[in-house]
Amino acid sequence: MKHVIALDVGGTGMKAALVGADGTLLYEARRATGRERGTGAVVAGILDFAAELRDHGHHRYGRPAVAAGVAVPGIVDSERGVAKYSANLGWRDLPLRALLSERLAGVPVALGHDVRTGGLAEGRVGAGRGTDRFLFVALGTGIAGAIGIDGATEAGAHGYAGEIGHIVVRPGGPACGCGNRGCLEALASAGAVGRAWAAASGVPGADAADCARAVAAGDPGAVRVWREAVAALADGLVTAVTLLDPRTLIIGGGLAEAGETLFTPLRAAMAERVTFQRLPAIVPAALGDTAGCLGAGLLAWDLLTGSAGPGSYAGAAGHGAGSGPAGSGPDGGPAGPGASAGSGTAGPGSYTVSESAESHKSDESAESHKSDETNETESTPDREVSA
Ligand SMILES: [Zn+2]
Repeated sequence: MKHVIALDVGGTGMKAALVGADGTLLYEARRATGRERGTGAVVAGILDFAAELRDHGHHRYGRPAVAAGVAVPGIVDSERGVAKYSANLGWRDLPLRALLSERLAGVPVALGHDVRTGGLAEGRVGAGRGTDRFLFVALGTGIAGAIGIDGATEAGAHGYAGEIGHIVVRPGGPACGCGNRGCLEALASAGAVGRAWAAASGVPGADAADCARAVAAGDPGAVRVWREAVAALADGLVTAVTLLDPRTLIIGGGLAEAGETLFTPLRAAMAERVTFQRLPAIVPAALGDTAGCLGAGLLAWDLLTGSAGPGSYAGAAGHGAGSGPAGSGPDGGPAGPGASAGSGTAGPGSYTVSESAESHKSDESAESHKSDETNETESTPDREVSA
């Protein structure tokens, strides 16, 4: 059976799957990321895990996976296939797409950002299924978002789009990990709510789930903490809605597990704040912690069907000047067997072994731009939202 490898690398655990053409999870596996063993061991562990999945698929379905998708935390350049920076996992400018493709006998590999990849799955096969414009927001340790447009997510020019957690909603407010003050993340993430409730209740280690339970039980101190967080969240989300006009707003992450304790006051607070804006449908995420893996599978299949969005492998091949047999020739005409006729979009079968050479080329050009980007990456914290 034709299948792809999907891999979701988190700060503490990795989830992997073999995914069929209809999106079905054929096989799932999990293991520790093992960051205490150091960055080199983490990367080796990712490559080994992918290779084991390839062998498993080969053994079970008579043929190896035809592509792979991998989602990683931190700052990701999907177009060049480079994991640019992760504070948690310790890498910088890691050419992960090329390393994986090499290890997987040259199959095409897509590299995605964890929250955008999870958001892609929520928008296409989860809570936003069928919607053309969505905003996915994960309220975890931090806050991050994914902007969905016509079945793909928008990465921005530098891979920073969707960072809604750093919209300032309370100028001069609490310090944020990014260096600013009063960011949404510092007020309304599960982490921030947990800290506020621990301080208010005097119970060290109390978390957002404890606060939600106390709210449901009518504790006035918890209600106060919760109300402030919801007000900040509504301010931030109304800013996003004003800018993006999404049809569906999908909320995930630890704080969303509070269910209607969160959604009822949040819908009311947003309704209070809008004037001319149209409120989107505000819905909880549906895929839980499998979203990243399902999204990685979608990225992999997109490589083969040519329906990929921004940051896709198809875009990266174009970046490599199209000299390989699968790219368009300089005359812009279709080049080589397997290139889809007359269009700039690669069709099924157009990614051959020669593509891994293309990916190396792209990675080198990413390296040469490193110095330009050092200041940006240095000043940007790694936000790894536990969705
Ligand atoms: Zn911030």
